[in-house]
Amino acid sequence: MGTGHLQIDLSALAENWRALDAMTACETAAVVKADGYGLGAARVAVALAQAGARTFFVAVAEEGAQLRATLGDGPEIAVFSGHMPGDTAILREARLTPMLNSPEQVARHLGALPGHPFGIQLDSGMNRLGVEPADWAGLRDRVLPAGPTLLMSHLACADEPDHPMNAAQLAAFRAMTDGLDVPKSLAATGGILLGPDYQFDLTRPGIGLYGGLPFAAAQPVVRLDLPVIQTRDLASGETVGYGNSWTAPAPTRIATVSGGYADGLIRSLSNTATLWMDDTPCPLRGRVSMDLLTVEVPAGAAPDHLTLIGPHQGVDALADAAGTIGYEILTSLGPRYRRSYP
Ligand SMILES: *Cc1c(COP(=O)(O)O)cnc(C)c1O
Repeated sequence: MGTGHLQIDLSALAENWRALDAMTACETAAVVKADGYGLGAARVAVALAQAGARTFFVAVAEEGAQLRATLGDGPEIAVFSGHMPGDTAILREARLTPMLNSPEQVARHLGALPGHPFGIQLDSGMNRLGVEPADWAGLRDRVLPAGPTLLMSHLACADEPDHPMNAAQLAAFRAMTDGLDVPKSLAATGGILLGPDYQFDLTRPGIGLYGGLPFAAAQPVVRLDLPVIQTRDLASGETVGYGNSWTAPAPTRIATVSGGYADGLIRSLSNTATLWMDDTPCPLRGRVSMDLLTVEVPAGAAPDHLTLIGPHQGVDALADAAGTIGYEILTSLGPRYRRSYP
């Protein structure tokens, strides 16, 4: 077996959904954009639907159409990018609910698909997606009679509970939605943890389902084992890998494992990551190559694999070593691994 083995624990995923659901009194949806944060949207969404999720969010209509084919007619599937040019047929045929982001999208949707469900995404200060407050003031009397299914917005700093942006966005969202008799949603994973003021009628967790921060109490979902291709003994002063970026200070045993930056093991892990031989930490030596890592193992050791994501090092610890966030590690994992869903 030349490729790494990615294990995705669907019971832990379902457990995380239930744990986040138990923190609120409202509906808990599930965000499965970017192929379920890289873990396989079809497998992930079926497991979450079995756990009880009835509403799913994706980034773009094409992801929604694939998800509809997987999940069948029951669940609601909502699209964050709204109703883009060219989306009309796919939204209609896959019965997707676009979250409309601008007056142009509202006009496009009400013109092309009258009577078809939609929600409105409002900008409460992140300045990324959503209808601006001034535009909403001019639109709402036309939009509300058409029956939006959801009014939503997104928090920019929810992973920092003390950040003043949280309260500022909550106030902006309330100013745009208070008194309107439409279901409301503000919280993703971080927002759920901010407490009941942020939870409204529906929450939209993503990363917490997949075992990532800011949901520190999450069950780990991912394990990644990389096969060792060969081992060799270096004399003091020999170098390892491209650019000779690591020199053995003493006799050293190096294992070469299958997996590299083409598999999402990004180059910023070079000379900093740790892999594990069961309970023994094994430092990555030299640069990450496209398909290979070179790792120091104890003298005489000949492991058949090393663990990169597992009990000793979760997704966020690996992300820290790479100078990034768990979201980027997960969504970069790529298609080459053998995947199993125990
Ligand atoms: C990605 C996303 C989410 C999920 O966020 P997490 O931090 O992964 O829980 C929710 N809402 C919107 C608008 C998003 O873009």
